[in-house]
Order: sequence, then C-alpha cells, then structure tokens
Amino acid sequence: MVYDILVIGGGPAGLAFASLMAGMGQKVAVFDRQPKKALANPTFDGRDIALSEKSRQIMDELGAWQYIDTDQVSPIRCARVHDGNGPSSLVFDPRATGADRLGNIVSNHLIRKALYDVAKSKANITLFFDAEVSTLQRGEKVATLILSDGSIFTGALAVAADTRFSKIRQSSGIMADMHDFGQTMIVGRMAHEKSHHYIAHELFRYDGGLAVLPINGNKASIVQTFAADVANEFMDMDDQAYARATEPRLKSLLGKLACDGPRIAYPLVGVYAQKFYTDRLVLIGDAAVGMHPVTAHGFNFGIQGVANLAGHLRQSIARGRDIGAPGALRAYQRDHRRLSWPLYQMTEKMMSLYTNNTLPARIVRKVALHAAQTFQPGKDVMMARLTSTPMRNLLANKLPALPRLFM
Ligand SMILES: Cc1cc2nc3c(=O)[nH]c(=O)nc-3n(C[C@H](O)[C@H](O)[C@H](O)COP(=O)(O)OP(=O)(O)OC[C@H]3O[C@@H](n4cnc5c(N)ncnc54)[C@H](O)[C@@H]3O)c2cc1C
Repeated sequence: MVYDILVIGGGPAGLAFASLMAGMGQKVAVFDRQPKKALANPTFDGRDIALSEKSRQIMDELGAWQYIDTDQVSPIRCARVHDGNGPSSLVFDPRATGADRLGNIVSNHLIRKALYDVAKSKANITLFFDAEVSTLQRGEKVATLILSDGSIFTGALAVAADTRFSKIRQSSGIMADMHDFGQTMIVGRMAHEKSHHYIAHELFRYDGGLAVLPINGNKASIVQTFAADVANEFMDMDDQAYARATEPRLKSLLGKLACDGPRIAYPLVGVYAQKFYTDRLVLIGDAAVGMHPVTAHGFNFGIQGVANLAGHLRQSIARGRDIGAPGALRAYQRDHRRLSWPLYQMTEKMMSLYTNNTLPARIVRKVALHAAQTFQPGKDVMMARLTSTPMRNLLANKLPALPRLFM
C-alpha cells in the first residue's frame, strides 16, 4: 500500500504529527504495535504532564485541547525549587509576565486520547493497530516498511516516533547518546491534608528527588526518584506505609497524605539522537530526544518539534518539493537541536550534581540555587518561555514608565 507518510508509533508525538500533515492534504499511515483499545481508550499511566503554554497552543491549533475537559486541567500558579532538606527555595512566580499560571497539568492518558480522537477524525489518516514494524528499508525515492505479519507499505517519508528506545533509529544506523541514571521514578496521585495552593514543588533531597504537581480537588501527583534498589522497597510498601514514608520527605508541605490511585515505576534513561534524520527517515518525540522527566520537558519538546517539522514540510509542499528530501528535515534538525540540546545537557549535569552527596557538591548546589534566586533576568527568560510571554511584555510590566514605542 502506498502513502505519502508512514508514521511508526501512535504515541502523542506520532499522532500529533500525523494530524498536522493530514491537514496539509498528505495521505498518512500510523502504525502502532498496541491493540486498538489501548490507543482509543488509554488507561491512567501515572504520568501527569506539565504542559507549557506553547504546547497548549499547539494542541489547541490541532483541535485536541477541546477534547480535554476543563476540570481535568490543573493550573500551576507558581513553582518552588528546594535544595536539600533546608528551607531555601527558588521561586518562579509568573505574575511578572502578566500570566495567571506557569503552565497546566494534564494526565498523559487524556493527552493521548485527545490526540487519538483528532487523528481518527481525519479522513486521510489510516491507523493500523497490532502493527509491529519489524523492518524499514530506505531507498532513493521511497521508504518501505514491513510489519511483523509481512504486510508491506511504501511512502515518501518514514517517521520514527517509536519511544526513546527506538528500534527504527537503531536499525537505520543513527547513534544516540544514552544516559542510564541508575534511578527509578515512582509516580502516583495522593490526597493531602493541607492545600497545595496550586504551587508545584521540586525538592532536590539528598536521599532522592521529589516533585509535587498540584491537581484539582486538593490532590497532587507525587513524583519520587530513588536509586533503583531503594525504589523497589518503596514499590513493595502498601499504600499506608508509602504515605507515611512520603510525608516527612515532603517537609510536611502538604500534611497527612493518602494514596489516591496506583503507583507506577519508570526507570530513568536519557536519550539524545546524534542526528534527527537520514535518507527518507526523520525522528520525532522521544525517539529524537528522550528527556529526564525532572524538568517536565519530554512531551513539550516533542510537540514543539513536531510543529516545527510540520512547518518546514509545509513550505516544501507549497514549493512542490519532495517531502522526503533533506532540506526541510535538516532545518528541523537545526531548530530542534537549538531548542532541546542546552536543556538536555543542563539536566544531565544537574542530575549528576544532585545525586552526588559529597560536601563540595552540596556547596555548589547551595551557591547555584542562591545565584539563580537572585539573578532575576534568568528567571524572567525561563518564565517568558514557559508562559509564552514575549520578553517585551515582561519588560513592559516591570517598567511601566517606558514609552510603549520602544516595546
Ligand atoms: C514519569 C514521567 C513523567 C513525565 N512528565 C512529563 C512532563 O511533566 N512534561 C513533559 O513534557 N513530558 C513528560 N514526560 C515525557 C513524556 O511522557 C514523553 O516525552 C512522551 O510520552 C513521548 O511521546 P512519544 O510519542 O514520543 O513516545 P511514546 O509515548 O513512548 O509512544 C511511542 C509509541 O510507539 C509504539 N511503538 C514502539 N515501537 C513500535 C514498533 N516497532 N512498531 C509499532 N509501534 C511501535 C508504542 O506502542 C507507543 O505507542 C514524562 C515521562 C515520564 C516517564
């Protein structure tokens, strides 16, 4: 069967990209190894995704945001980063940007369902379920894909959106930097005694990180990171023991805790592909950049990369060019690296620093946190990015007396 675009992986990146390209009149096939019900009605997987305003806007333009009930969207009004077990913290308050929130929290399964519903509504997208892609052959003019049942498909461009452990990336000879953090992240929702005031917390504790993502109804997604063996002990606890063990780790920020749903463990591996395209193949989502979740950027980078790639391909289509030709793919690679590489690197360094409990490392952390707290321009750039506020608006809010002419 012949299509314009063959997307391998029906996760959020693959589905978002398919819908954007279908909107340009392209005939798209999406293949996922999971059964239809897992894609059409994904179950809660413990991931509560902190979405930046830019990502929300892209989902809105895709028509996916409308599928998410407003009561399932929890605002992040402010964020605090705490060092070690001490009282000091770095505060990100978006009010200076004029925004009422730093971002929104939406459960990953709802994002996946919304993107699935949009893709399903497009006449020129065909979704293949239980469709394990076993081979990709890249010719001069077409990509040919073979499923494990032997079915064959061709297209001008193949797109790997098949997780950070992408087999397609590997079998196409694209190398990737992989960093196994030797740690496991445990995620799960908890109800709590005190109000979270919609403040997100990131606690860099000496015995493992902990994040609080506020959820409507005085609940929070509690994200804890441990060395893999310690994580096993926490996973083995019953709900009550887990709640009691978590309360003091939270510096009593939320008071008494009670588990409110399943606990799920994710081993932490960061992945960065050395290039994002080769002949007739482009990598998107986690297959291109698999972030450590601590900075909550994996999906945000994924969907922004997808929108960027679609923008370059739109120009190719308008000029009557081959969508599998390197020009647009190269431009995407350049832009996506520029967006993601600095934070990917910074995250690796930061996590190394925070898993090192020597005295010098502790001192460096304290100094870095203090410097970040007092260096307002750095915080402003970060908040402008999260809230999609142009820097000139931020300056205008801070310096109301400046003539608007110069803004
Ligand atoms: C605990 C945790 C918390 C996170 N929190 C955040 C956050 O707050 N903010 C944020 O931006 N990001 C966050 N992320 C990251 C985010 O979840 C991922 O970046 C995102 O889900 C990746 O989407 P994807 O479509 O690239 O890949 P995936 O969701 O992994 O989907 C890949 C799909 O490919 C299919 N597939 C694989 N191989 C094949 C094959 N050979 N043939 C056919 N199909 C195949 C799979 O079945 C799957 O459906 C978090 C991640 C974790 C683990």
